[in-house]
Order: sequence, then structure tokens, then C-alpha cells
Amino acid sequence: MENILGKEFKCKECGEIHRVDVKGIVYGSLDESDEFIFKIYGKSKKILVLCDEITYEVGGRRICENLKYNNAFPLILKPENEKRVHAKYKYIEKIERNIKDVDLIFTCGTGTITDLGKLAGDKNKIPVISFPTAPSMNGYTSPVAAYIKDGVKITTRVKPCEYVYIDENIITNAPIELIKAGFADSLAKSFANSDWKISSIITGEKFCGLPFKIVSEAEKKYINKGDLIKGRDKKVIKDIMDGLNLGGISMIIAGSSSPASGGEHLISHFLDMYAHQNKIEPFSFHGLQVGTGVYISSLIYDLVRDFKSDEIGKRIEKRKIDYDEKLEKICSLFPSSKNILKKIFDKKIKVIEEIKEKLPLKWEEIKKEAMPMVYSPSEIEKFLKKAECPLHLSEICDDKKLIKNAILLSRFIRERITILDIADETGILNEFVYDYLK
Ligand SMILES: [Zn+2]
Ligand SMILES: [Zn+2]
Repeated sequence: MENILGKEFKCKECGEIHRVDVKGIVYGSLDESDEFIFKIYGKSKKILVLCDEITYEVGGRRICENLKYNNAFPLILKPENEKRVHAKYKYIEKIERNIKDVDLIFTCGTGTITDLGKLAGDKNKIPVISFPTAPSMNGYTSPVAAYIKDGVKITTRVKPCEYVYIDENIITNAPIELIKAGFADSLAKSFANSDWKISSIITGEKFCGLPFKIVSEAEKKYINKGDLIKGRDKKVIKDIMDGLNLGGISMIIAGSSSPASGGEHLISHFLDMYAHQNKIEPFSFHGLQVGTGVYISSLIYDLVRDFKSDEIGKRIEKRKIDYDEKLEKICSLFPSSKNILKKIFDKKIKVIEEIKEKLPLKWEEIKKEAMPMVYSPSEIEKFLKKAECPLHLSEICDDKKLIKNAILLSRFIRERITILDIADETGILNEFVYDYLK
């Protein structure tokens, strides 16, 4: 990893130049974070320590108390009309009111705090250092931030954090559910990369094999050791953190979230949007939701992998989808996001035309190049169960109709091709949902 951090290099996989903006991932004590900042950025810097009420107690307070060289002050975000602070636009506005003359944003927290800090930093051209309080997701190093705006979960490009500063004791003692969430989120990698490969074969968009390669290497160290999470095994938890951070860096290399977020993430985003629309708390942590999506993807990949080339065309021809009805349904579920969903839908329809035309011709290539990347359902089941993560969506959501809608309709909330599109256009998604909910 050291070989690529903060560097520009010619890629052996795709031949292009990649530049990794994250300059360093540094392990050290929380109490020495001020010294770390001094070494890199000098002294007397005005630093906004962004946290929520929980992460202030975990680290924010100590970061501010241990000052010797810099002038740090906390901004503690408090939930507004909800139980926890979520990545919503209103909080970014709040941060922006507090960043006058600030030299650095130091995010102390997990997904929400990191994404909010990155969004505010990117918008106001202030460097961000992230201090993870749990190995719960890959946003500490990623060049994207996910947040809800106008009711739609948007993933937008932002400048990644310049440094990630990690205290091993803090991440080892993070809430177990968050560590499990990070583990489950990391399982998305193979499916996201395969979805990306399929998309590139169909649309001709750029694909680079390096993200899959670097994260696969890291993943070997922990993927089958979920049972050690419960005992807070320091080494395994650090390995998960490293895997997640490489996952974030793989997105920098790709220039998008493609190598870390495929169909499995759409199902999770759909649930988040539903919760937001109906003013209820999210169903579970991001990674745990994604883990159930990963299992769904693995089941679908298993169904399509044996299709013969000559039956793909016939399947597509036989399958008659009433797209207008789909759009109507989505809009009725998310009335406040109608306009933006309609725009995404229009783009998706164009992509679907391309799928219908090219899938029969490219099927053998997809089978050869993409399919071997993914794990089988039994492997995913083993990994998730060993770590005591939810396997089936019904473990985190008891609304069967919503689960059905999430699987059938989430493909329309993002234009990018995923296995959900392939499954629906070849006519197996409805049947799959029926079996899945049995
Ligand atoms: Zn490359
Ligand atoms: Zn994720």
C-alpha cells in the first residue's frame, strides 16, 4: 500500500496513469494526534474536530485536550428530528457555518461524520484528516461521499481525506455491530467488481483490474475469520480496517465507486431512502444491510451463470417489462424525490436498450471475465454467519413488501449496470424474489 499512497503511477493492469490523493494511513495513539498534525502541517493551525455526541466522548474530547501545537475546537453534531445524526444536507450547512478560517477538518467518527467532513472540506477547499472510531466502512480513504439530498441517496465525488490516522485501541474497542458492519461491507468487493466488469463489457466504459487485485490480497487475511471479531482479536480487526481502506483507495484508482458498490449497495440505499421518506430510523447499519445485499447478489449470480449464449436473446425477447409502471411505482414510494428519480430513470432506460442489444453477443465474455470474481452463496453464507452478521433481509426488516420492492426496483435508482439489471432483463428476478421470500 505504501507504494501507491500519495503517488502517481502507470498502471500495469489498464495502462493508464492513476493518482492516489490519500497521502498516508498512519497508526498511532489518539493522544499523539496533535503531534502527528504538527509534523505534517506545522503548528498554530485552526482545526475543526468534527464529531457527534458519542464520538466526542470516544475521541473528540481527548483530541482537543491534548493540544500542544495547534488550536483545535470541537463541532459536536446533534441529531435534528431523528435519533442519530445521518448524512443529510442540513448538517453540511451547519458545518459550513463553523468553518470560517479553519485550516483543517479532523473528522472523529464513522461513516456519517467522515462523509459530512469530506463534503464540507471538498466544498470549501479545506484538507480533511479522518480519525476512524470503528472499522465500519471504506469511506475513510474513498473519493466519494454518500448523503441524502431531496430524499435520494446520492453518491458524489469528493476529494478524499489527505491522511487517515488510526488508533488501534480505539478501533478494537468499537461497538461490535459496527465492526461486523465493516466486515460485511467489505464482502461487496467481488460482486461490485464483477458488476463493474459486466458494465464495461456492455457499455465499453473503462475497467481496471487493479482494485480487485489489491483488495483481494488484503481480504484473504480476514474473510474466513469472522468468528474472531467477537473476541475483539486485534490483528483481525486491523486487517479488516486495512481491507476497508484499500477498498476506498480502489475507488480512487477507478475514479468512481464502481469497485466497491454494485447491486448489493442499491438494495441497501433503497432501504435508506424508504426510511428517510417515511421518517423512520434506518433499518440497520450500512454494512449489515449491504451484507444481506451481497447474499442476494450471490444467489442471483448463481442463477444466471449457467445461461447459454443462445438462450439469452430469447429470454430478453420473451421478457416484457412495463417500464412506465415501474417508474410509477417508484414515484409512489418516494413522492418527494419524483423529479430526480425520473431523471435517473430516463438515463437507465437508455442503458437498458444497450443491455438488450449487447448482452446476447457478449454473454460468453461476461461468463469468462466477470463471473469468476464472485463467491458462491454457500461461501457468502459461511463468511457472514461466522461473523454473526445478518444473512437474510428479513433479519433486519420485517416488511416483506418492502423487501420485494427493494429487490425489484432498486435497479432504477442508479443508472449503472448491475447483476439486478441482468436478472430482470433475462426474466428471472420476479421468480427469484418469490423464492427468496418463501
Ligand atoms: Zn489501472
Ligand atoms: Zn458500503
